[in-house]
Amino acid sequence: MWSRAHSGARASGELYTTLKQLSPTRTVSAYPAVRFLLSANHAPQFPADDGAEVAVAGRSNSGKSSAINALTQRRSLARTSKTPGQTQLINFFELAPDRRLVDLPGYGFAKVPAHVRDHWQELVGGYLEMRNSLMGLLLIVDARRGLNDDDRGLMGWANVRGRRVHVLLSKSDKLSRQQAQRVLASVRSELPTQASAQLFSAVSKEGVEEGQRALDALLANKKPGGSGGRATG
Ligand code: GDP
Repeated sequence: MWSRAHSGARASGELYTTLKQLSPTRTVSAYPAVRFLLSANHAPQFPADDGAEVAVAGRSNSGKSSAINALTQRRSLARTSKTPGQTQLINFFELAPDRRLVDLPGYGFAKVPAHVRDHWQELVGGYLEMRNSLMGLLLIVDARRGLNDDDRGLMGWANVRGRRVHVLLSKSDKLSRQQAQRVLASVRSELPTQASAQLFSAVSKEGVEEGQRALDALLANKKPGGSGGRATG
């Protein structure tokens, strides 16, 4: 069948039509060429600040690494860990030429020494303040825990600087449908106007396609589920 489909323009056109019919909503961007670029623990190590990138942020153990792997459909692109607060590196991934996904180290780790927290502040704060190619943030929030003050602080920062935020309410498989919908409604009710939210699970894969569309929208400087240029005010 494959050799027949590839045997001529008409046949491959038919195959394309068939594939489109199987995926009626859109052709999902699966980032087939995604690759790890580099890890940085100081600003001079960051890659060139051009093109567009989206940073993934969240509390330690929120499911950030699992979300990156699910969105990029790679088993272990980002390393998942059961030891919160250990990663103090910013990891850059290339999704496509001039399109990057940036894994920020998690925050909210209670038991780490002050110098580790200071380093986090300098590294992540410096990144957020200086990065021109940063189009928006994917904020990973454990759906069972909801937003905390660190999450709100980051969203406030992004709003003031005109960066969009899309919240992935992670681990939704741990909640009943009703509980999950309640959390989603509650989180949405307190988002700034330029922010959006959805349910997500790296285990059940709920919301993976929606999350990919949101990532694409942020990279294109559009509001997920909406349209328009960079947020203002
Ligand atoms: P990170 O520290 O924010 O990068 O979080 P990880 O991705 O390492 O996940 C933290 C823990 O939550 C790990 O034990 C994961 O297996 C678990 N986890 C992550 N995502 C999900 C999910 O969607 N569903 C469930 N049930 N567990 C998850």
